[in-house]
Amino acid sequence: MEWWSDGIGVLALVVLQYSNILFLEGTLTMEICFLGTGAPWPDPLRGSSAILVDVGSARILLDCGRACVQQMARLQIEPATITHCFLTHGHYDHVADYALLVLTSWRFGRHHCLQVYGPPGTKAMSDALFQEAYKIDIAARKSLKKSDAEADININVTEMRGGAVAEGEGWRLRAVEVAHWPIPLSLGFLIEGDGKRLFFTGDTSPCDAVRESAAGVDLLIHEAMYFPADSGHYRSHSHPEQVGEVAHQTGALQLVLTHLQPETRKERLLNDASKKFTRRIVMATDQMRLVL
Ligand SMILES: [Zn+2]
Ligand SMILES: [Zn+2]
Repeated sequence: MEWWSDGIGVLALVVLQYSNILFLEGTLTMEICFLGTGAPWPDPLRGSSAILVDVGSARILLDCGRACVQQMARLQIEPATITHCFLTHGHYDHVADYALLVLTSWRFGRHHCLQVYGPPGTKAMSDALFQEAYKIDIAARKSLKKSDAEADININVTEMRGGAVAEGEGWRLRAVEVAHWPIPLSLGFLIEGDGKRLFFTGDTSPCDAVRESAAGVDLLIHEAMYFPADSGHYRSHSHPEQVGEVAHQTGALQLVLTHLQPETRKERLLNDASKKFTRRIVMATDQMRLVL
């Protein structure tokens, strides 16, 4: 196995990069923190899908899966500092902590409007959560708020389809429709900013939308999953060997594999992905940070 396939080597590189940043005034960086790298399975070592991206003026959360708010607490990341939340699709391993993010940030110091984006269905889910499921909690807290500005959970929900763009100072995101049967519309996201490009697939089987939209990115974050060849998962998810092939076709500079099953073995995963992709490959772990 090559040295760059070793997560420890990469993390050491990250530490070096962080220390360089301290001395390079004005250097722009895109910073990524993996808050959840598991999937639907209960897993003592992994939350489910959630990735924090600091880019330009924004602090963006990609997916809001199980335990990501707890993981923020462990890393001393204030939920109130999240400016944008982009949801790939409505599977519970991608949205389980959505209400917790909104309510915790509202309760503890968020004064800005949290911008939420997701595929069709995101508004209905938000209404069901905040106008029904949590209405007793929200009404009780609103009655104690001192000002009108505080007395609202203060979110703005925008639904996206493939090709939709969101942008702010120093960053731009484009939604890409991926292939995650039987979910009718699941999104991947291309983020550009700080002179770098990142693509996050969300959940997908190998598809041209990823091959084309992630062409030449600095970092491809791709889901990976083991499944029997005769299972229906081949229409929904990507075997690590397939991920390596897709990554090779994109020409990405580096690849992170995430959305992992509890029993996933690192050596097997990296070996399978590296059959077609010979650049740097990292197996994601919760709390892992990368700097581009
Ligand atoms: Zn998933
Ligand atoms: Zn899914």
